[in-house]
Amino acid sequence: METKIHRLPDTVINQIAAGEVVENPASIVKELIENSIDAKAHRITVEIQGGGQQLIRVEDDGSGMGEADARLSLERHATSKIQSVDDLQTLQTMGFRGEALAAISAVSHFELKTADGSQATRILAEGGKIVAMEPCARNRGTTIEIQSLFYNVPARKKFQKSPSTNAAQVAKVVEVIALAHPEVSFTFISQGKKLFEAPAVSSWKERVEEVLGAYPHEVDFQREGLKIWGLLASPDRALANRSGQYLFINRRPIFSPLIARAVKEGYGTRIPENAFPSFVLFLDVAPERVDINVHPQKKEARFREEGQMFRLFEEAVAGAFGLPAFSEPISFDEPPVTENASFPAFSFPPRETPSFLFAEETSLPLSYTEKALAVLGSFFLLEKEGWVLVDLQAAHARVLFETLQKPQAASQALIWPLEIELTRSEAMQADTILEELQKMQIECRFLGQKTLVIDALPPFLEQKDFPEFFRTWQEGKKLEIVTDRFCRSRKKRYSLEEARLLWQKVQECTNHRYDPLGHPIWKKVEEEDFSKWMRG
Ligand code: ADP
Ligand code: MG
Repeated sequence: METKIHRLPDTVINQIAAGEVVENPASIVKELIENSIDAKAHRITVEIQGGGQQLIRVEDDGSGMGEADARLSLERHATSKIQSVDDLQTLQTMGFRGEALAAISAVSHFELKTADGSQATRILAEGGKIVAMEPCARNRGTTIEIQSLFYNVPARKKFQKSPSTNAAQVAKVVEVIALAHPEVSFTFISQGKKLFEAPAVSSWKERVEEVLGAYPHEVDFQREGLKIWGLLASPDRALANRSGQYLFINRRPIFSPLIARAVKEGYGTRIPENAFPSFVLFLDVAPERVDINVHPQKKEARFREEGQMFRLFEEAVAGAFGLPAFSEPISFDEPPVTENASFPAFSFPPRETPSFLFAEETSLPLSYTEKALAVLGSFFLLEKEGWVLVDLQAAHARVLFETLQKPQAASQALIWPLEIELTRSEAMQADTILEELQKMQIECRFLGQKTLVIDALPPFLEQKDFPEFFRTWQEGKKLEIVTDRFCRSRKKRYSLEEARLLWQKVQECTNHRYDPLGHPIWKKVEEEDFSKWMRG
């Protein structure tokens, strides 16, 4: 029988694959709910036990799958949603990488029951291997049940949060997705108790009110082919953190420090300097104008027209409070995007995408006396009582150096462990290598005589870079030299978010002025310096 799901060709995989979708129960529930939404479900029920570590069950009444598709759905890089990278330009679904079910079933006892109206199939998988497949009884739709999460990945299991924290995170995921999909009914059950129920409603306003309570100020703003709409909480409901802020771009939940600041500007002096307004805002915009870095863990958006986007949001919010609109027209001075433009709708720099980012970071790292100005390759210019130029390679080396020495730094489990073939002489020192790596929070073991398997890495050491790090380290150099050389030798271009994170982390270091070999991490820059440089 013809299947809907196909394995993506390697060329496509290389451009889109992300590899990390199963951090914790919340990220799993997010993937499963998104699948249900992609399958056009009207009703989605999420149930967990033990914060999700014992049980996660997501049930929907969507399109379901036939038997052959059901089997394919567990394969890596198998998806019904795209066939080529070009399809991303017109992507209508939340998923497209074909990684979630493969990754989730690889680390759990997994049961899939699905029916497409003519066939109903049940598949059992353990640690990614299908152990049973048979016809079953089920109405159209899909149920996925996950038990013993991470039973075979002890490193990840060890770093799971408490059941109550996990349950709260899952609840938040359900809530956030529910906000953007009023036409779907959601139920969330934890420990047998119904904690959240949102029946399908016809307007998003009803949904927001039901989920979050009254947000009295409506935003309804249209300009230059984009639409900003949503609800704002009254200024006296401003919070000390960002937990009341919800932003969706084309219905995807997105975190954007830029827009959060613009909204704050729009509130003007109605809220105090150090408070955060609560809002639910939706932006509908042509996909080519926003560069959503759709790594499953990175809900960041980048706009092609940052300045304009900032002003539009500011204006939209200010308008909701009855302020006059800016008189000056806002121009989009970048050239319009044509079909053959060199800007892809989404840009996927998967091999560049760092795994150390956003592991736990959801708050904006920069303090409010600091303003990020620009990232120039491996330099970061920021404003902080004048200008400060940060050498990101030096900062990275310092942060990595201190992280590797700090035994309490939590390492991040790799879902697909990394294997390194050792030379014969290295293999002879296997015990020493294991011991020393483990001291740096690098969780590893041996497979046979010569294969070193890495299961978890500390933050700031990316999986793709590890082999090179390991080689330099094996040359027997001191850690100062290894980290310094390692961070300086790679031609990494840092993103603005990475720059912010490094800058924040470097300030928590014992020595935040110099890299491990004594090069300065940052310097103040005066106008004079520019003048000397340009005018001699
Ligand atoms: P992706 O969503 O990126 O395609 P997944 O691993 O999440 O990858 O799912 C693989 C495929 O399995 C999907 O492309 C879809 O065809 C199918 N699938 C997954 N979940 C469901 C569901 N709840 N209902 C119907 N089909 C599903
Ligand atoms: Mg998916």
